[in-house]
Amino acid sequence: MPAVVIDGKEAARKKLEEAAAGAAALKKRGLVPCLAVILAGDNPASLSYVAGKEKALAEAGMESRNFRFPGEISEERILALIAELNADRSVHGILVQRPLPGHIREDRIIAALDPAKDVDGFHPLSVGNMILGRRAFLPCTPRGVLTLLKEMKIPTGGAHAVVVGRSNIVGRPLANLLASREINATVTVCHTGSGDLGRYTREADILIAAAGAPGLITAPMVKAGAAVIDVGVNRLPDGSAKKGYRLTGDVDFHGVVERASFITPVPGGVGPMTVAMLLLNLLEAAAENAGS
Ligand code: NAD
Repeated sequence: MPAVVIDGKEAARKKLEEAAAGAAALKKRGLVPCLAVILAGDNPASLSYVAGKEKALAEAGMESRNFRFPGEISEERILALIAELNADRSVHGILVQRPLPGHIREDRIIAALDPAKDVDGFHPLSVGNMILGRRAFLPCTPRGVLTLLKEMKIPTGGAHAVVVGRSNIVGRPLANLLASREINATVTVCHTGSGDLGRYTREADILIAAAGAPGLITAPMVKAGAAVIDVGVNRLPDGSAKKGYRLTGDVDFHGVVERASFITPVPGGVGPMTVAMLLLNLLEAAAENAGS
């Protein structure tokens, strides 16, 4: 039997409704959750992600303030803006869209954020608190993946989760959260040094692909009945598509859908959840600010 195709758009819609309801409640108390969005350069994928986030914020009754800079912007100028936004009580969250231009040290920029406004969960303090199991803003994509697993009632306790990818924004935090007491999975992390990936992925009850490598995970690499979550978003040139490219994941969907029990599509799987989780993080940041 083919896998259940997880509808990430529908799951995200429910979470966005929750965020909108929370924003409406705060509004009654005179508070509008506000996200400052900093974007440097004109990376087409970044522009499209930022537009998507701004649209979702507006639809949920939240505010976004946009700071767009040319790619040549200096690190000092961004740091000065962050200092202003940190001090601005009407701003509850600050998002720095990645990737930043090469001359800007991302670590320095992220470390300058007030951790109370770090709704992306990338600040070292947020990461440390997350690892220690303390309260922290969870990075949006990992939180989105965990929320999807929960919504689909995919059992995690005692499951073997294999995460392909060890980036600071997806693989690493996700592996960490999956191994937490609450989620209780046993976790294997694969990366470019893993060699024969299939050796590990075939053992996975939950397989999460976050490598940025189109079609990396094929059917013979998947255990029958596994839940497969495809985080990858890759742009493949496609002359027949209106935009000249099409989006594809890290998983060979057509092959794997015949073998897995659950699978997320790309687009329409994890991506919409990432945006919804950003709004929930912002809502929490704003509520905290209001002392609730
Ligand atoms: P990254 O390039 O920072 O990290 C990729 C990781 O995958 C690395 O740790 C690398 O070791 C591993 N990897 C790469 N190729 C591999 C291979 N052939 N075999 C084994 N391991 C391999 O990327 P990232 O920022 O973590 O993003 C990963 C993917 O997820 C990208 O396609 C990105 O566009 C996508 N993404 C999607 C969302 C979303 O909301 N859906 C959010 C963030 C990232």
